[in-house]
Amino acid sequence: MPTALISDVHGNAEALRRVLDDIDSRGIQRIISLGDIIGYGPDPLTSVDLVRQRCEWSLMGNHDFGVLYEPTNFNATAESAAYWTRDQFDAETDDKLRAQRYEFLGRLRVRVAETVPEADIPVLFVHGSPRRPINEYIFPDDVMNAPEKIDAIFERVERLAFVGHTHVPGVFTNEIDFYPPDELGERGYTFADGEKAIINVGSVGQPRDFDPRASYAILHPDRVEFVRVEYDIDISASKIRQISALHDWLADRLYEGR
Ligand code: ZN
Repeated sequence: MPTALISDVHGNAEALRRVLDDIDSRGIQRIISLGDIIGYGPDPLTSVDLVRQRCEWSLMGNHDFGVLYEPTNFNATAESAAYWTRDQFDAETDDKLRAQRYEFLGRLRVRVAETVPEADIPVLFVHGSPRRPINEYIFPDDVMNAPEKIDAIFERVERLAFVGHTHVPGVFTNEIDFYPPDELGERGYTFADGEKAIINVGSVGQPRDFDPRASYAILHPDRVEFVRVEYDIDISASKIRQISALHDWLADRLYEGR
């Protein structure tokens, strides 16, 4: 059975619902989340509840960490959003539900190692990078500008790693290349003997590859497929604009996919 991989929902419940519908329409039963469920978006509680209900497990992202503990190295927009998000969890009047949500966030893992279902391929899941799981970004530009960085990160990858964090989907290989989904074609990236890959599944709730549609990936025994899903951006954007602690740029960027 394939596994759906979602990441960086960022409190965008509208996008998350459409992605879950798409996953359901394909009959996929297993969903995992690579973190940043919350932060930036207007629906943190709904997003956490949907992930709690629908995902087998989720990782801890830097924004989940920032809301739960402290927002470190956040810019002013992200910090303001993190404090507002925390206030939403604190404002829950149902004591049991409030405790359940905090317990869920507190138990998110930083890294998970598995084998690809139905294939004997080791796979590592982290939010940021295999070297610094919560905070390190692996950018497509690093292939040109910092190949030694990519090389050092690949030393920590046995075969496959799945990441989020940059909100830009695609595949890094240990030949120090990057392939956006468009270059890979419909079947996506097929695992090759002797080749390591770090696969970014993109972002459900705040894509940054200039395609505003929600992004997720499907892990098959022999390959990973990239999927885009349209959702009603107006709904998420207007909610953001009504919340003064969430900067209007957080609404604007959803339309631009950046
Ligand atoms: Zn993120």
